[in-house]
Amino acid sequence: MKFRKSLILALSLSMASALAQAQQGVKRPKLVVGIVVDQMRWDYLYRYSDRYSAGGFKRLLNEGFSCENTNIDYIPTVTAIGHSSIYTGSVPALHGMAGNDFYIQNTGKEVYCVSDSTVKGVGSDSDAGKMSPRNLMASTVTDELRLATNFRSKVIGIALKDRGGILPAGHTANAAYWYDDKSGNWITSSYYMTDLPAWLKDFNAKKLADKYLSNDWNTLYPINTYVQSTADNNKYEGAFKGMSSPTFPIPTSKMKAQDAGLIRSTPFGNTITLDLATEAIKAEQLGKDDITDFLAVSCSSTDYVGHRFGVNAIETEDTYLRLDKDLEKFLNFLDASVGKGNYTVFLSADHGAAHNITFLQDKNIPAGSLKTAGLAGRLNSSLKEMFKVDNLVLGLSNYQVNLNNKVIKANKLDESAIRAACVAMLEQQDDIAYAVDVDKVSESTIPAVLKERIINGYNRDRSGVIQIIPKPGYFGGGATGTSHGTWNPYDAHIPFVLMGWGIQHGSTARSVNMTDIAATIAALLHIQAPNACIGQPVTEAIK
Ligand SMILES: [Zn+2]
Repeated sequence: MKFRKSLILALSLSMASALAQAQQGVKRPKLVVGIVVDQMRWDYLYRYSDRYSAGGFKRLLNEGFSCENTNIDYIPTVTAIGHSSIYTGSVPALHGMAGNDFYIQNTGKEVYCVSDSTVKGVGSDSDAGKMSPRNLMASTVTDELRLATNFRSKVIGIALKDRGGILPAGHTANAAYWYDDKSGNWITSSYYMTDLPAWLKDFNAKKLADKYLSNDWNTLYPINTYVQSTADNNKYEGAFKGMSSPTFPIPTSKMKAQDAGLIRSTPFGNTITLDLATEAIKAEQLGKDDITDFLAVSCSSTDYVGHRFGVNAIETEDTYLRLDKDLEKFLNFLDASVGKGNYTVFLSADHGAAHNITFLQDKNIPAGSLKTAGLAGRLNSSLKEMFKVDNLVLGLSNYQVNLNNKVIKANKLDESAIRAACVAMLEQQDDIAYAVDVDKVSESTIPAVLKERIINGYNRDRSGVIQIIPKPGYFGGGATGTSHGTWNPYDAHIPFVLMGWGIQHGSTARSVNMTDIAATIAALLHIQAPNACIGQPVTEAIK
């Protein structure tokens, strides 16, 4: 009896220690926070750093590890693809996010990246709620964390833009939240839940967007100290509706009644996003136990501001100075809530942006607006002469020509001849460097880096079959503000900085790809890489 008791005791002790060992076996941070800054060029880490605080962007660089030469390894460089590629470690060829909007090639139907007619909005009955990650054809690193912990990890995605919150959070997320202009509320869809959590209803009831906009947007510092930007009143920037010039102060208190989505185009859109991220960490107890949670945040306002005002604008400079302050506050909150050294944060961008076209021209740098207006029509009329059939081109999107495959099939036309005719016509245009039939990439006389990015960006079911490569400095942009989408360094060179649990201090100038980000996070967490990941972990960054 005595013997059996002590045997049971010994057995249960060894079982307890085995369980403890198993729990200690894999070391992970309590929380991973991914921050994507929409349209953040890599050089913004340094461009405004004279006035960055010690606790924001500079803290990431001073305490963390920076991959200084991180590039997007596909085209087109746009928001939906960037967020998908960061989190899947993959490219449109495999993850299927071929653009913010793309044509389903066999039906000719154009779809929005995260639209889903099978779901309903939660928190809103507008169409803004009918969104889900179903069009994403690969798993995300956030999905892999959920799988690795048998769904005990919590994963939440947050962004003003639906696609900025939904795609990073993956298919198995507990929640993704985005902003509904109509109601001024943060919402989700029935893909995730049937009712908003009480804490989010309380957060919405604070009407923070309205509060922030009630104070007009003025510069954080005296306006003559913004030495990194063109003087405020200039022809390169787009004025807000109702304003006669693109200048400070911007009377958001008066404008907000007419423009429901105004918060997006101000730095306060980033503030409210990080306010919500803070609230989500508190209310959902993220990082409070030993099972790693993941919060995927995207700051969208930098993109709206960038599109309107461009790179060399006081409005953009001010937006980054304010984001830096918001970031400092958020990192301080993480220190206090999760504990310094208990969380890992990484920061990157979905794409960069070019300088304004006229600004570049005025400085004698080759640049121009790609002549795409009416281009599909011109292609169609030439093709009609040659092939006697109307509307052979459905449309141009993402610097690709989408052919009308249904009509081509129905008329039994020679598709390769149509492609060749399009390429020949496009290459006559003096603002186009190359037009490439995607099936002839390897035999084309174009630089190898372009070949790889074209192939990576081409999805058979969802991409156009002719890729247009504009000349350097040329892009589909107007007279004011800017845009992005090409392979060039201004669009493709992005920040990738990690800090916190498991991260070395240092930097590397070696070539790193956007697709290496998910591979690095997976390696750090000792979980499987996402199921279409083509990236490699940045091992130098990991302790
Ligand atoms: Zn954009």
